Amino acid sequence: MVNLVSDIGSTAAESPDAPALSYDGQTQTYEEFWSRTGRFAAALDDRGVGAGDRVGIYLPNLPQYVTAFTGTLRAGGIVVPMNPQYKEREISHLLSDSGARVVVTLADLVPVVRAVQAETGVEHVVSVGGEAEGATSFEAFLADEERPVVEREGDDVAVQPYTSGTTGQPKGVLLTHENLGSNARATGDLMPGGFQDGDRMLGVLPLFHIYGMTVTMLGTLFEGGAYYPLPSWDAQGAAALIAEEDITIMHGVPVMYNDLINQPNAEAFDLSSLRFANSGGSSLPVEVMRRFEDLYDVDLYEGYGLTETSPVTHANSPEARRPGSIGKPIDGVRARIVDGAFEDVPPVERGPVDEEGADLNDVTGELVVAGPNVMKGYYGLPEANEEAFTDEDGTRWFHTGDIGYHDEDGFFYVVDRAKHMINTAGYNVYPREVEELLFEHPAVADAAVVGVPDERRGETVKAFVVPAPDAEVTEDDLREYCLERLAEYKHPREVEFVEELPRTTTGKVQKFELRGDE
Ligand code: ATP
Repeated sequence: MVNLVSDIGSTAAESPDAPALSYDGQTQTYEEFWSRTGRFAAALDDRGVGAGDRVGIYLPNLPQYVTAFTGTLRAGGIVVPMNPQYKEREISHLLSDSGARVVVTLADLVPVVRAVQAETGVEHVVSVGGEAEGATSFEAFLADEERPVVEREGDDVAVQPYTSGTTGQPKGVLLTHENLGSNARATGDLMPGGFQDGDRMLGVLPLFHIYGMTVTMLGTLFEGGAYYPLPSWDAQGAAALIAEEDITIMHGVPVMYNDLINQPNAEAFDLSSLRFANSGGSSLPVEVMRRFEDLYDVDLYEGYGLTETSPVTHANSPEARRPGSIGKPIDGVRARIVDGAFEDVPPVERGPVDEEGADLNDVTGELVVAGPNVMKGYYGLPEANEEAFTDEDGTRWFHTGDIGYHDEDGFFYVVDRAKHMINTAGYNVYPREVEELLFEHPAVADAAVVGVPDERRGETVKAFVVPAPDAEVTEDDLREYCLERLAEYKHPREVEFVEELPRTTTGKVQKFELRGDE
């Protein structure tokens, strides 16, 4: 049997009293948690919802999310995770595209689902955190008796997350039981000594996003660890939870680590219980990594991935680590850097490439990957599938859309997303290079670089900077600072100070907003 959740049942049988979920001071043991997932599965079964049917989960990180997720898979169903910040229009597209028959949501969000229920064909609405008209409350929904796990093949779809839709309508990504299972296990093995008995995972990455779903939630439950869901991010709250509960593993996006080091009184946080910290989702500025490590004496590793690859394809680990790199392909994953003709671009001797004098365009290409974690395909979008893959000698290579290079030691480097590259007077500028430099300036707390329209140059480089508290710095100072250290065409001709950068809920800077795109 390959149903992804079967291993959780095995832990429940072998270590029934081990803690599985802990939230707001309340802990569910594996026995209690597994029983609730069985009752959720039975409730679906009672309504004729089973193998291959979609269940939408439109919730922040709460214990009920984990129960509904595991219960849906246990019933053979497919989870459609939905960002709880989404509004009616966005929800309507996800529900009608996926054909979800059941939606589990917060009582406060029930009206949003009800407003689109008729047009999307949702049959049942389940509410968490209170009663709501037209919905069954979560506890009342659970059946009295558990049902056994429904068997699945490795190739059967388990979840259908959606891309965030920065390029057109969000696309449903079909990820199978094998995709998620292989990735959750491989990422657990990257930690020193692998996942260990008694490990406690900070559950602050949103569960609707693949990084939180696979690496933090499934990765922990597969290994019999304890998962601590947190519905929202705030540095003080997360740091307090780490200290109080002796959390041993943290996965986060770069902005979370940047927040931890930039908080007033940052040095007072005690993060010493962490034995492993990892960053992914966007590039981790080397300066942020160094400052975090110096301040808290916790090693911070960087990994890389995408929704379409379940997510992790590359990671640094205690055995193989190079700052500024996304690490090496993880177990079972193959990766290449290819040019426009799908020919291999040779590796550099040793990275990261020293920017001075080097022309990144000579050594970079698109990163393509293959492995057991690569999605089955986009849902109902044959053209998008055609574009996303190249078949060569029996291998299905997935195009990541990221520009990078590799070195002779096997480390990979992501320079930027292809669509973020700036073309100024015929020169290519990768915003990340300028951002890394800005982060090294003591007066810079946060920074993002984009290309803005320019009559003469086509595009010109512009930096948005959040100054560090009490910093005395001018736009001119930062322009000069970059000009002294970068080729003239790369330095930001415009610098704008802002209080905060616009970000998605997964911590990515919304560059289209900074560019002022429609
Ligand atoms: P969409 O594809 O619709 O824009 P999204 O950006 O939310 O949605 P994800 O799958 O969450 O999609 O993001 C994957 C992207 O995140 C990668 O293609 C890459 O650009 C970026 N990324 C992830 N990890 C890293 C990293 N360590 N360094 C640089 N970029 C990273």
